[in-house]
Amino acid sequence: MKVLIATEKPFAKRAVDGIKEILAEAEYEVALLEKYTDKAELLAAVADVDALIVRSDKVTAEVLEAARNLKIVVRAGAGFDNVDCEEAKRRGIVVMNTPGQNSNAVAELAVALMIFISRNQFTPGTGAEIQGKTLGIHAYGNVGKLVGRKGKALGMNVIAYDPFITDDSVFENDGVEKVASVEELYSRADFLSLHIPATAQTKGSIGYDLLTSMPKGATLVNTARKEVIDEAGVLKALTEREDLRYVSDIAPDTAAEMSERLGKRFFATPKKMGAETAEANINAGLAAARQIVDYFVNGNTRFQVNR
Ligand code: NAD
Repeated sequence: MKVLIATEKPFAKRAVDGIKEILAEAEYEVALLEKYTDKAELLAAVADVDALIVRSDKVTAEVLEAARNLKIVVRAGAGFDNVDCEEAKRRGIVVMNTPGQNSNAVAELAVALMIFISRNQFTPGTGAEIQGKTLGIHAYGNVGKLVGRKGKALGMNVIAYDPFITDDSVFENDGVEKVASVEELYSRADFLSLHIPATAQTKGSIGYDLLTSMPKGATLVNTARKEVIDEAGVLKALTEREDLRYVSDIAPDTAAEMSERLGKRFFATPKKMGAETAEANINAGLAAARQIVDYFVNGNTRFQVNR
């Protein structure tokens, strides 16, 4: 069995060592393609592998076509919109993610962004505290839950909306109020932390109407995906309402215009940083390796995302 670790943005060394150890124990061969700059390098490297571990690398139909022996792709991370899941399904290739492994890193960044923007991006002057404010969580999955719990620990009033969680105890156990609609969530949230996945349904879904329904001085915190934002709508809302703010993990396509027009009310990390901690890197990498072995040895498809 041959496994390729293909990472344009490499794992931490400890993660690579750990992955190799797990795969060596199963007597699998490991190939490593890091910091590649040309798609052709990836196309050549996948030609004879049975399994593929990637991070944000794009696994397109072309890559799947080139990977003649491929049986499984594991995206070491949560979002899997970088993998052509439909095409993989058509070819009988299993796609998995490693949910939960980088959630704490992302949740900590969401909290950091809230404090950073509340203190005027650490420029001198009077800022505000987050304690006592209402934190709205849009999607109560792995990351959303951790942001909710951290918000509670910081003295925030936490409310959440997730139409796919029908068991109310998920919210109750965290002392979080479940709200009935996305409109109610935004209209009450001083800070809105966004955790919806990027899907055909959610892309471009957060825009003018939701933003302008938010309370005075509210902040949208996006550590989900830039694609879920309707950038023109958000810019229009923040131009009309000079009290609103937007912080994002990864720059929107219109970042330069937003910076120019919104000044210190807008901030975007220069690169996606949510999962960029040594801990998250290691957790997700090792989980990917274990899932591959568990799939080949036991047929375990628990984390398959393209059924
Ligand atoms: P998750 O799968 O654990 O949770 C997603 C939640 O979204 C689920 O509870 C689901 O019910 C809910 N949901 C789906 N569609 C929805 C909709 N239309 N409206 C409301 N809720 C909806 O995922 P997660 O680990 O919490 O990650 C969430 C997202 O964060 C990922 O999809 C990914 O895009 C992003 N993410 C970003 C980084 C980063 O580096 N910034 C890292 C990890 C994840």
